[in-house]
Amino acid sequence: MSSPTPNLPFKDEKLLDVLHIKKYFPIKGGIFKRTVGHLKAVDDVSFSVYKGETVGIVGESGSGKSTLGRVILRLLDPTDGEIHFEGKDISGLTARKVRPFRRDMQMVFQDPFGSLNSKMSVAELIEEPLLVQTSLSKAERKEKAIAMMEKVGLRAEDRLKYPHEFSGGQRQRISIARALIINPKLVICDEPVSALDVSIQAQVLNLMKDLQDELSLTYLFIAHDLSVVKHISDRIAVMYLGRIVEIAPKQALYNNALHPYTQGLLASIPEVDLDGTNQKREKIRIEGDLPSAVHPPSGCPFRTRCPKAHERCAVDRPDLTKVGEDEHFVACHLYT
Ligand code: SF4
Repeated sequence: MSSPTPNLPFKDEKLLDVLHIKKYFPIKGGIFKRTVGHLKAVDDVSFSVYKGETVGIVGESGSGKSTLGRVILRLLDPTDGEIHFEGKDISGLTARKVRPFRRDMQMVFQDPFGSLNSKMSVAELIEEPLLVQTSLSKAERKEKAIAMMEKVGLRAEDRLKYPHEFSGGQRQRISIARALIINPKLVICDEPVSALDVSIQAQVLNLMKDLQDELSLTYLFIAHDLSVVKHISDRIAVMYLGRIVEIAPKQALYNNALHPYTQGLLASIPEVDLDGTNQKREKIRIEGDLPSAVHPPSGCPFRTRCPKAHERCAVDRPDLTKVGEDEHFVACHLYT
């Protein structure tokens, strides 16, 4: 299967191409600690990201979405497949050769407290990427850090404080400032607001949207439910057990979800009506737990929880296939 490469009217330049990426973790067993199996965290994922867009990646815990983010950033090595950033294949580069690309690809983590060194002041935290990646002088680093603090809504006079002296929302602003200080092209946001109160979530999401427009950023926005990504995303990919099961422009996904799993995710959040047509969605309830990624079901990975499963679903694994006119891809036998 080729990568879904939508020709969206508002995008023309491709920034990232993920091609058949797999990430398998070996399972060791027995007295000799031999490899007795593999946990297939990411299993043949392909998609593209265009400059300036936000692609939301949604899936429950264990779907492989965070592992995928780390593989794209080369924090983890892929087991197979290719990652092309601005046309260059970075999937096989050594740690030294991948370093220049790190400047262009940054990550904002879910837990700002855990990802920020508590012994460093805010000034040190925000200036550190400049120290590592640029040859700016101390004065230039300070000036840039203060400007970035103000851009993300932090007060410059707080620059000598430590992470524990800030609220959760402010700490996430520090993480965002640290990620953006070296002008990255792609920011992978791994559940950046899940640990925050709902009222603060909206503020941080609005800030990220404003910064995207101002700094021409491209986001890959990882979340565990569809409510968080609905305002910020242009397109959304839904992952299940290491695979993309549906990917579509936001309107198409929210108003005409095709995959039974996506329909179930939508049924679990308050009514969404993006274009005012209030189309009736089929209400699907997802029951049971995510199966093991070590022993995934045969055929369609969702078949053990799918209310529409039929004979073929246990035998054939459905490929991601374009359905309709609006760059909508789905992996389900109901549409093939
Ligand atoms: Fe359900 Fe079958 Fe479609 Fe899988 S392929 S989502 S089991 S109907």
